[in-house]
Amino acid sequence: MYINGQWQQASSGKSFDVFNPADGDRIGSVPDGGREDAERAIAAASTAAPAWSARTAYERSAILRRAWELMLARADELARLMSTEQGKPVKAARFEVQYAADFLLWFAEEAKRLYGETIPSARADQRFLVAHQPVGVVAAITPWNYPVSMLTRKLAPALAAGCTVVLKPAESTPLCARAVFEILHEAGLPAGVANLVTAADPRPIGEVFTSHPAVRKITFTGSTAVGKALARDAAATMKRMSMELGGHAPFIVFPDADPEHAAKGAAGVKFLNTGQACISPNRMFVHRAILDAFVHTLAQRIGKLRAGLGLDPDVAIGPLNNEAALAKVARQVEDAVAKGAQLVCGGERLHLPGLEKGCFYAPTLLTGVTPDMQIYREETFGPVAAVIPFDDTDDILAMANDTDYGLAAYVYTRDIARAFRMFEGLRFGIIGINDINPTSAAAPFGGMKESGLGREGAREGIFEYLETKLGGFAV
Ligand code: NAD
Repeated sequence: MYINGQWQQASSGKSFDVFNPADGDRIGSVPDGGREDAERAIAAASTAAPAWSARTAYERSAILRRAWELMLARADELARLMSTEQGKPVKAARFEVQYAADFLLWFAEEAKRLYGETIPSARADQRFLVAHQPVGVVAAITPWNYPVSMLTRKLAPALAAGCTVVLKPAESTPLCARAVFEILHEAGLPAGVANLVTAADPRPIGEVFTSHPAVRKITFTGSTAVGKALARDAAATMKRMSMELGGHAPFIVFPDADPEHAAKGAAGVKFLNTGQACISPNRMFVHRAILDAFVHTLAQRIGKLRAGLGLDPDVAIGPLNNEAALAKVARQVEDAVAKGAQLVCGGERLHLPGLEKGCFYAPTLLTGVTPDMQIYREETFGPVAAVIPFDDTDDILAMANDTDYGLAAYVYTRDIARAFRMFEGLRFGIIGINDINPTSAAAPFGGMKESGLGREGAREGIFEYLETKLGGFAV
């Protein structure tokens, strides 16, 4: 763990092992932190807060910029570590490191643009001044599926804003978190400004984070169920909150779209990170007029996806996170088939030589999916493309919006008026129009409804870590 600028063991002296999810090999071990460690880290962050917020934006920016340089300098090394610890193909890991580094540079720049404003008053003897100040100590909890970029997406804006941070990474990917903190340390971040607490059991740490009076903000990325529980607990001390939660993205292909182009896009985004992404399409609404061509191309693309060890350059599909994740995917596929969906390909666990311990599931294509099937409502978080044919283009907006989630949505059409109607009518935070990658450090990421609160990245991302302060001056 990294507390107050020093690498330390847990107070209990305990540690836990980290495994390669593809072959089950033990790849390391980290301290198993508990309540006391979380409290120590919060104390360090509280002590460091006044001096850090008093630094100029230029000084904070310079440290983040140095971290950006260091991350890019060791991008290949980090990508290999990520591939080994999380299982994703090394090429995808390399893209993630670039994305992660982008947040460091973006917020190094945004730090210098925290403009306030003056507001005209109705009183001649009054002046209004609006300024932004850091919220204070931030507690961050991050997931395993993007084990580097989800850290910098929180750390960079928080540090740029002048906040101090305590971060708890996912229990299956603490080595990537450690590598990120090594970079911050080498970049010259002062002691106590960012602290890392690793733990095998997240619950006690979460309880300290949500109840501690010194913590003024909780930022979380993970499942909707855990996000809701943390928000409920944090409400007792009225902490600020950012929540990046689950999704159930619609992927809508209108009859005027090129079905092959759309299917290639669908394959690209659906099987990214083996479907373990919150922006992964969960319902592919495809117009019946182009259904056959779409399904044919998608099946062809799926046929080319090879599963295996992420370090193998030909591999596109890594393992699922654990047995429970695999069981959920298998249950959804069985349920859909039992209720009449057609299984075009996949639909089974893969037993790969030498990788028997890995939770590999074959890339799967289902068509004829209907609203009574579990996959229609429940987030899959696995490599299953569920195609729902539709006939009436007037119904599609209501069908797509018929979910408790609201993170990402995708639309394929060549009709500009239709593209605008969909962009405006879809109740989702991120809309890809003929585009499967509407994400960037420069663009606001986040969801509506039960997909969360707040936005990460972009100009907006730093305001999640700032309070607005009004001054009324009588002159
Ligand atoms: P999870 O919610 O179980 O775990 C995420 C993090 O929360 C981990 O660090 C974990 O240790 C921690 N955690 C779990 N229980 C906790 C508790 N009681 N108290 C404190 N911390 C706790 O999620 P998961 O199932 O491992 O991850 C997949 C989910 O995350 C999916 O639903 C996915 O959509 C979501 N996700 C969302 C985004 C986004 O940006 N919106 C990004 C990645 C993942």
